Amino acid sequence: MENKFKSLTIFEFQERFPDESACYEYLTELKWGNGFVCPSCGHDRYCRGKREYDRECTSCHRIVSPTSGTLFHHLKFSILKAFYIVYYVSTNKKGISSTELSRKLGLGQKTCWRFKQKVMKGMKSSGRHKIRDKAEVDETVVGGQEEGVKGRKNGRKKLVVFAIEKQGKGVSRMYGKVIQHSSSKELGAFMESVLEKSARIKTDKWRGYQPLTKDFLNLKQVDSGKKGRNFPELHRAIMGFKGWLRGMHHQVEYLQAYIDEYCYRFNRSFMKEGIFDNLLQKMVETPPVTYKQIIA
Ligand SMILES: [Zn+2]
Repeated sequence: MENKFKSLTIFEFQERFPDESACYEYLTELKWGNGFVCPSCGHDRYCRGKREYDRECTSCHRIVSPTSGTLFHHLKFSILKAFYIVYYVSTNKKGISSTELSRKLGLGQKTCWRFKQKVMKGMKSSGRHKIRDKAEVDETVVGGQEEGVKGRKNGRKKLVVFAIEKQGKGVSRMYGKVIQHSSSKELGAFMESVLEKSARIKTDKWRGYQPLTKDFLNLKQVDSGKKGRNFPELHRAIMGFKGWLRGMHHQVEYLQAYIDEYCYRFNRSFMKEGIFDNLLQKMVETPPVTYKQIIA
């Protein structure tokens, strides 16, 4: 595989993936590069299936395709167009709307929207790389009048808790989660998923954080100051997210997916367009989702 820090231009992309076969070959490599394992019986020997890239388990005879068991499962259009969508979503600095994808690829807007939601599932944090050192945590309201939307049309507000990793004067990573209440239970569950117990965490004086000092031994509660003056990096990061959300998505219905998308791109901004390969890899590792699961 090529250098992850090298940017992938549209020309290079087209050179790498001129046709469907190239896409299937790449998926095959991502999925079975370290060897074949039958998803039914765990057997590691296979023979070729009827279709070119399918593999048949020699023990239970299950036929497995490079896309089965991945987010590319049951694709309703060509794998090449699916790769184009992953390319555009991962290389556009601010992401791309389903309407624009529809125009570029000659697919229906709804089709693009649905597949893009799947791509966004691949952008969900694995939870494998928790913040170890300096962190800040705070909640904010997203949507509704807070965002300056006129009238009550878009009035559904949602509560989101964000955590950032501080590095020098900047923010090296951020994570966010939609929550129902600022309760210790919900705040604690989120913090456990993104922060090491030993991390040096700063929160405001909200009482919901108080019981968490038992688990997070280096959690310090400080006065947030006027308009969060004592948390400048965190609030700048949150403003960045809100600005992006306003420009890109005009509703907060699928807010968690948008948070995942934004944080994924933010956390990999140092990787440049190398995130294309990373995203494909994650899409192959992530089990398929149905339309029902997407809109749930
Ligand atoms: Zn088998």
